[in-house]
Amino acid sequence: MKLLSVIVPCYNEEETVADFYAEFMKNRSFFAEKDLEYEIIYVDDGSKDRTVEEIRKLHDADERVHMVSFSRNFGKEAAMYAGFEHAKGDYVVTMDVDLQDPPSLLPEMFSYIEEGYDSVATRRVSRKGEPPIRSFFARMFYRLMKKISKTEIVDGARDYRLMTRQMVNAILSVKEYNRFTKGIYGWVGFRTKWIEFENVERKKGETKWSFWKLFAYSLEGIMAFSTAPLAFASVLGILFCVLAFLMIVIIIVKTLVFGDPTSGWPSMICILCLISGVQLFCMGIIGQYLSKAYMEVKGRPIYICREEI
Ligand code: UDP
Ligand code: MG
Repeated sequence: MKLLSVIVPCYNEEETVADFYAEFMKNRSFFAEKDLEYEIIYVDDGSKDRTVEEIRKLHDADERVHMVSFSRNFGKEAAMYAGFEHAKGDYVVTMDVDLQDPPSLLPEMFSYIEEGYDSVATRRVSRKGEPPIRSFFARMFYRLMKKISKTEIVDGARDYRLMTRQMVNAILSVKEYNRFTKGIYGWVGFRTKWIEFENVERKKGETKWSFWKLFAYSLEGIMAFSTAPLAFASVLGILFCVLAFLMIVIIIVKTLVFGDPTSGWPSMICILCLISGVQLFCMGIIGQYLSKAYMEVKGRPIYICREEI
C-alpha cells in the first residue's frame, strides 16, 4: 500500500478546517480503488483563533489527521516546509485549506504520476473574483520574473502540487531561510505536468494576504531567484558615468571656445539630487541582498514547533 501525505497550511482558519476535511474525503472511493492510504497534516501557523481545537476534533475522529502547530506565525512558506519534513508519504500534495485548490482534481493529478511524471502542478487560468489591481501586479510580477530569473516560475501557478518522495527529498535539501517555494519547485526540476483550472473563490473566512504583504512577498521571490537588480545597479552606475563624462566635455568645450562659463545653481542642485537619489536607490538594492544574506548566515530554524499530534 502506498501512502499519500496531504499538507495543509492553516492560519486562523477555524471556519474552513472541517470543510476541507469533508471535501477531501469525497475522494475516499478513489483512494480505496487505488489502494492508497492517506494522512492529512494540518500545519497550524500560529493561529490566534480556534483552529487548533478544530483540528484536534478531526484528529479524535480520524487518527490519520495529524497536526504540527507553530509557536507563532511563521508564514505559509515555513508551514509548507514543516509539512514536507513531517510527511511520511510516498506521494505528497500541498493544498490550501480554503478549498481554492479543489481536492476533486486529485484523481486526475494522480493519473499523471502513474504515467511517470515526478510532479503534477496546477495553475489557474483566470483570476476572477480578485481585485483588478492585484491581478495586474501579479501578472507584472510573473512577466518580470520570466525575464530576470533562470528558474521557471509559471504565471498563475498555485502551491497545489502533487509530488513523488524523490522530489520532496530534493525540496527538503534546499534549506534556505528565505523560502519562495514556487521558485524552489522550479529550481529542483523533475518532470512536471501542468494542469489548468478556473479560479475558485474562497469558500469561508478571508484572505490572509493584504496587497502589501503580497508585494513584499514578490520582492522576496525576486531576490531569492535573481540577482538582476544588482546588475541593474551597476548598469545604472555606468550609464551615469558616461553621461557625466559627456557633460564635462561639452562644458569644457563651451567655456574654452565660446568663453561662456556655465551658470545656474538650480540645475546643479537638480542633478545633485538626481544622482544622490540613484546612489541611495542602488545602495538600497545592495542592502536588501545583504539583509537576506545576513538572515541566512544566522542560520535560524525555519519554524518552531509548539505541539504535534
Ligand atoms: N496561510 C498560512 N500562513 C500565513 C498565511 C496564510 O499558513 O501566514 C495559509 C492559509 O491558511 C491558506 C493558505 O495559506 O491555507 C493560503 O492563504 P490565503 O487563502 O489567505 O491566500 P490567497 O488564496 O488569498 O492567496
Ligand atoms: Mg486562498
